[in-house]
Amino acid sequence: MTTSEPVSLEPTSDKGESCLIVAECFGVEVPTFQGEGPSCGHPALFIRLSRCNLTCEKCDTRYTWDWSQFDPRKESTKRTVAHLVAWTASSPVELVVITGGEPLIQQAQLVPLVQGLIAAGKRVEFETNGTIAPVPELVADGVRFNVSPKLASFGVKETKSIVPAVLEAFVASRRAAFKFVASTMADLDRIAELADAHRLAPVWVMPEGTTLEAITATTRVLADAVAARHWHFTTRLHVLAFADARGR
Ligand code: SF4
Repeated sequence: MTTSEPVSLEPTSDKGESCLIVAECFGVEVPTFQGEGPSCGHPALFIRLSRCNLTCEKCDTRYTWDWSQFDPRKESTKRTVAHLVAWTASSPVELVVITGGEPLIQQAQLVPLVQGLIAAGKRVEFETNGTIAPVPELVADGVRFNVSPKLASFGVKETKSIVPAVLEAFVASRRAAFKFVASTMADLDRIAELADAHRLAPVWVMPEGTTLEAITATTRVLADAVAARHWHFTTRLHVLAFADARGR
C-alpha cells in the first residue's frame, strides 16, 4: 500500500483562484441525508475531499487516498471555491457536509469555501479524523466538527490517530462532537479512557459496518452499554437506506 502523492495539492487554478482537490460532490442532483452523527437524517449536500493523512485498514473511502488500488487522476478533480459555492447554492438544502479523506489537510483553501457557504446561508459540518487542529477562521458561527478519532481496532496505530493536543483544541472550540466507530465492548472501554483523558464531550458511538446486517448486529451488541454510559448513539443511515452506494 502506498500513500505517495502522484498529483500535487496545487491550491490555485491557472487563473489564480482558490481550489480544492475533490473526490466527489453529491446531494444536489440526487438528494440525500446526513447519514451519521448529531445531524443524522437531516437533508444534506456532501463535498468529499480527496487525500488522507491516515491509512486505516477498515477505511471505506480508500478511493480518497489509496493509490495502490485507485488512480488519483480518475478519483479526484480540482474545483474552485466559486464552483463549489455555486453548486451548493443550486439546492435549497441548508446543511453542507465537508468530508474526506481528511478534509483539514486542505484547510487553507477551506477558509474561503466555508466563508462563501456561510454567506450563502448554509451551515457546515466537517467530518474529520481529529488529527489536524482547525485554523481559527474555520471555528466560526454556522460550523460544527464531527471529530472521529480512529481506534487501534480500526486498523491504525493510535500513535498516529490519537493526537491529544488536537483533540483538546476541538474540545476548546466548543463546536465539536466526538464520534467513535465501535464494534466491541473493548472499543467502548477504550473510548471511555480517551473521553476521560481528554474531556471529550459529547461522545457519540456509531456501529461499525457497511451492511444492514452488520450494523444491526453491532447495534444490538453495543446499545445497552452505550446507554449505560449516557453517551449518544448514531446509526449509519446511508448504509441502511442506500446500501452504502457511492454518492448517497
Ligand atoms: S481517517 Fe478516515 S478517510 Fe482516512 S484512512 Fe482512516 S477511515 Fe479512511
